[in-house]
Amino acid sequence: MIIKDYRIAIASGKGGTGKTMVAVNLMYAIKDIMDGKIQLIDCDVEEPNINIFTKGSFDYKKNVSIKIPEINTDKCIYCGKCAEYCAYNAIIFVKSIPHIAVMEDLCHGCGACSYACETEDAITEKNHVLGTVSKYNIFDNVELIEGRIKVGNALAVPVIKAVKKESEKNALVIYDSPPGTSCPVIETVNDVDYVILVTEPTPFGVNDLKLMVETVKKLGKKMGVVVNRVGLGSDDLYDYLNAENIEVLMKIPFDKKIAGIYSEGKILVDEIPGIKQEFMDLFKKIHI
Ligand code: SF4
Ligand code: SF4
Repeated sequence: MIIKDYRIAIASGKGGTGKTMVAVNLMYAIKDIMDGKIQLIDCDVEEPNINIFTKGSFDYKKNVSIKIPEINTDKCIYCGKCAEYCAYNAIIFVKSIPHIAVMEDLCHGCGACSYACETEDAITEKNHVLGTVSKYNIFDNVELIEGRIKVGNALAVPVIKAVKKESEKNALVIYDSPPGTSCPVIETVNDVDYVILVTEPTPFGVNDLKLMVETVKKLGKKMGVVVNRVGLGSDDLYDYLNAENIEVLMKIPFDKKIAGIYSEGKILVDEIPGIKQEFMDLFKKIHI
């Protein structure tokens, strides 16, 4: 089977629901029936952990940077315009001392301060590293592209944009999304063909799923749900999914054996009889 330019995001309203497990095992289940390339893209840049399971061979790593301002105090006339223009409060300006400094970790690299400054050479720009993009080869037709933000950096979106740039048109692309419903998630799912939402049938799971469903609806994306840890909680989740007419793509039982295999960094598809076929069936449901 050759599938080109089809993008799937695996997402969840909260962390710890098993979305990475679904992303990795989906890839393992379908890799042998795919003639074309599969790219796993780890967009969970604060905590990328696909490589713990896939153990690919390292290919390359590159930095993700933005241009940030550098203030040359020998040229600066301490007018304060740059600080006024900064919407992110990334420039500390105290006229009375006088003192001016850029808080590098707050800077979004928008360039407004450089635009505002009318004093020649008072502001120049330099590179600021936000994180890295790394590539690992897993199988002949499967690769992992991993985004990872630098410790202390709060700007996940530019790193997610950079890791997504490595995706190819001629591949089946699977994004492992960050958890939640904030900007990094929107950035991840905004160009996909299908969103798989992973949840669990607990009150917290249902609550976070509802927020995620509303987000995906606003983006106008097709979606379905994988229910993990089936056996926990109540029927509230299924009542909600029925009412919203959202398909349950797969159910993964609440099972000590599954939890043990996952916590050891092993692949369910290799260890649990029958689960490979269930992931293949899931793929058939979403590839419309
Ligand atoms: S580049 Fe933008 S965010 Fe950074 S200091 Fe200048 S105005 Fe503020
Ligand atoms: S706008 Fe330019 S001259 Fe004015 S305080 Fe900022 S860097 Fe200095």
